This record gives sequence, structure tokens and C-alpha cells, in this order.
Amino acid sequence: MNDTQRLRAAIRDVADFPKPGVVFKDITPLLQDPELLQLSCDLLAEPFRDRQVSLVLGVESRGFIFGPPVALALGAGFQIARKPGKLPWDTIAESYELEYGKGQIEIHRDAVQPGQRVLLLDDVIATGGTAAAAARLATRMGAEVVGCAFLIELDFLGGRQKLGNLEVHSVLCY
Ligand code: AMP
Repeated sequence: MNDTQRLRAAIRDVADFPKPGVVFKDITPLLQDPELLQLSCDLLAEPFRDRQVSLVLGVESRGFIFGPPVALALGAGFQIARKPGKLPWDTIAESYELEYGKGQIEIHRDAVQPGQRVLLLDDVIATGGTAAAAARLATRMGAEVVGCAFLIELDFLGGRQKLGNLEVHSVLCY
């Protein structure tokens, strides 16, 4: 098996979680294997190595798992984009459409500095709403979003389109 085949084999599909009709991509078996954990972080960071990324912005919650090792591989810092009400200090928020209702994502007011070169990171891009909202937060703070990296892209959901002209890198496509 090649590298991406090994990663694929370690991702568990869980049907009907968290609700009927959704096939959840469970990455916990992959995280359990040190070689696959390292490989995932290497492949996420790879296209951004010479791009002067200064901050990795990880999206709750599995963006917090890959975020710090990818940030260290790129010589960048790390910050978190969280669901509403989780961050302790002053925040700015962006909303996005969900199938029913609205979702929201927040960062601390000082999480992203003007001029910073930001890499947005999450485990999965599905509809792309969360990632697009997180990218807007970084842009609002005056940062440049260098790109977005995902371990898994569910390309039948078309999430990439929501990210417009941003560079999107996904390690595995489904
Ligand atoms: P979306 O805004 O639709 O792109 O959803 C992205 C967020 O939901 C990410 O933080 C993912 O971790 C999570 N997510 C959405 N769909 C799945 C799925 N099928 N398996 C695992 N995580 C998912």
C-alpha cells in the first residue's frame, strides 16, 4: 500500500453519526498509529513549506489535533477557531448557513494579526461553511489566508466552492 492508501485504510466510516444519513469519518484509528499520525501531519504541511506561513488557524475540534504539529513543521504559531461561547476573552464571530439554521465560529480578537500569513486547518471539509467562515475571520483581521488544508475532502458536497479563490489542499478525497 502507498502512503495515502495506508491513511485511507485507517479511517473508519461510521454510518448515521451524528444523525441519520451522515457517514462520519472517524480518524481516531489513524491517530493511534504514530507513523500514520506523522504522515498525516507531513502531508498536510507539505504544499505550504516554502510559503512563509506565520500562523496556523485550527478549526474546532479536530483542527486542534493536527494544528500544532503542522504549525511547528512550518515554523508558525497556532490559534484556535471555536464554536460560540467557548473562548474566554473578547471574540469576533462569523456565521454560516447550515442545513437547518445557522452555525457560528469565533476567534479571540487578538488571535490573528494584520499582515499575518495564515493557513487554515481542519480534519474534514464537508459543505465548506465552517472553513469559509473561519477564513473570513482571518481576512477581517487583516491577515492573508495563504491556503486551507484538510486531511479529508468530501468532494461530493462541493465545499471547495465556498472557499472561492483560496488555495485548497486536501490529502484524501472521497
Ligand atoms: P462543513 O462546515 O460542512 O464543511 O463541516 C466541517 C466540520 O464538520 C469539520 O470541522 C468536520 O470535522 C465536521 N464534519 C462534517 N462532516 C463530517 C463527516 N462526514 N465526518 C467527520 N467530520 C465531519
